[in-house]
Amino acid sequence: MIHLSGGAGAPELDGEHRTVVVVGGGQAGLAMSKCLTGRRVDHLVLERDRVGGEWRDRRWDSFCLVTPNWQCNLPGFPYPGDDPNGFMVRDEIARYVEDFARSFGPPVVTGVRATGLRRDRGGVFHLATTAGAVTADHVVVATGPYQVPLIPRMAERLPEKILQLHSSQYRNSAQLPAGDVLVVGSGQSGAQIAEDLHLAGRRVHLAVGSAPRVARFYRGRDVVAWLSDMGYYRRTIDEFDDADAVRLRANHYVTGRDGGRDIDLRAFARDGMRLHGRLTGVDSGRLRFAQDLKRNLDHADAVSESIKDSIDSYIAATGVIALAEARYTPVWVPGEEQASELDPAGIAAVIWATGFGRDDRWIDEPVFDGHGRPRHTRGVTNCPGLYFLGLPWQYTWGSGRLSGVGADAEHLADRIVAARGARRLSDVRWIAGTPWNTCPGDDEFTPARTVA
Ligand SMILES: Cc1cc2nc3c(=O)[nH]c(=O)nc-3n(C[C@H](O)[C@H](O)[C@H](O)COP(=O)(O)OP(=O)(O)OC[C@H]3O[C@@H](n4cnc5c(N)ncnc54)[C@H](O)[C@@H]3O)c2cc1C
Repeated sequence: MIHLSGGAGAPELDGEHRTVVVVGGGQAGLAMSKCLTGRRVDHLVLERDRVGGEWRDRRWDSFCLVTPNWQCNLPGFPYPGDDPNGFMVRDEIARYVEDFARSFGPPVVTGVRATGLRRDRGGVFHLATTAGAVTADHVVVATGPYQVPLIPRMAERLPEKILQLHSSQYRNSAQLPAGDVLVVGSGQSGAQIAEDLHLAGRRVHLAVGSAPRVARFYRGRDVVAWLSDMGYYRRTIDEFDDADAVRLRANHYVTGRDGGRDIDLRAFARDGMRLHGRLTGVDSGRLRFAQDLKRNLDHADAVSESIKDSIDSYIAATGVIALAEARYTPVWVPGEEQASELDPAGIAAVIWATGFGRDDRWIDEPVFDGHGRPRHTRGVTNCPGLYFLGLPWQYTWGSGRLSGVGADAEHLADRIVAARGARRLSDVRWIAGTPWNTCPGDDEFTPARTVA
């Protein structure tokens, strides 16, 4: 790997041209690089920070995978350890990604950020980077599904003495001042961080949203193993009526901690955690919550139980031998006296587990929808030569995860190789006097320059 300082205007990459430039050196960018390497396509990976940095630098200390290790399936590099049904902890995951990179030596330049991208009329991409201007015939954007921490603006109205962190900045309980902690959001991060603080002996308030939950184990196996057998992870986005809604769905909360178990917010409440409905605002110095706690808990349980129903049906239909298991019964229910407001005076810290957004403003091509999300078909945009990789549900459930990003990278690599072949053919035809744009289906290329 090449390391550059990446200072503004640094000339190290100035004038470089590659067949493919991949932006982002996380698991998606590296998977892309592996697939291009296997096809002998010359390319460069630009990484603004360091390989595996997202896992190492933006997760809390007790973080571990929610997906079992056997689902780590980077191209040609399955989970190498001896605990396939376990859940790697933060540093092990980062090491897995780093080892993957070491296994094939990708042309990664670290410390370099892509700051601009446009395609000229001849079909060449011009990338502005912190190490100079680079050109490419194809660009793969693999900048991550969770880029920009989102914090609602009501945060500005909280008293200054309260320490506020986004979930990506949270590390452990000791990092917070003494006193109660409010965690806002009960998706995967919020639920796990609330548990982490609860186990550390903190008094935790949790503003519970509408995220669903899933049981860790059912009828003797990890639910992920059942869903895998049932074909859920092979389902593609075009099998759903509302692809946008599927892509935006919150992840189900569950944990891999201590070998894996459920996250049952009702059990936390029984054991002293203060549960509230959604945080709706900060008014007149008070934190305001919606009266939707009961609904949100019921919804999370209903989703979890409906997944068990599907597993039961699968077992009945296939005759698989499986243990019997009693269904969940709630261990706590919110009372009528559920508080709709809270005095922030007793709160020492707020953790905003309120999600992430994207920032693609550096891409100057019209490939986004009205919400600023990339428009694509399995990562292929309508701008010839521009691709995305690693988006949530780009093609399957695993697309934005360690399990499915490799298959999407293989797909894009095949597309790139096919487009290069077509482009060469087009150059020949062009040189021979046949107009390139009369070839049927030639939307992937232009004949502007001869490709080596
Ligand atoms: C809290 C949390 C828990 C998760 N748990 C799991 C799990 O249990 N199992 C699972 O399979 N997945 C999980 N994921 C999802 C997913 O695997 C991770 O988000 C993973 O980091 C995505 O890899 P990526 O390569 O697509 O993106 P990232 O890892 O985000 O990598 C993108 C890279 O691009 C770089 N970059 C961004 N912009 C630029 C630019 N302009 N120029 C140059 N470089 C740039 C960044 O520095 C970064 O290194 C989880 C995600 C989160 C947030």
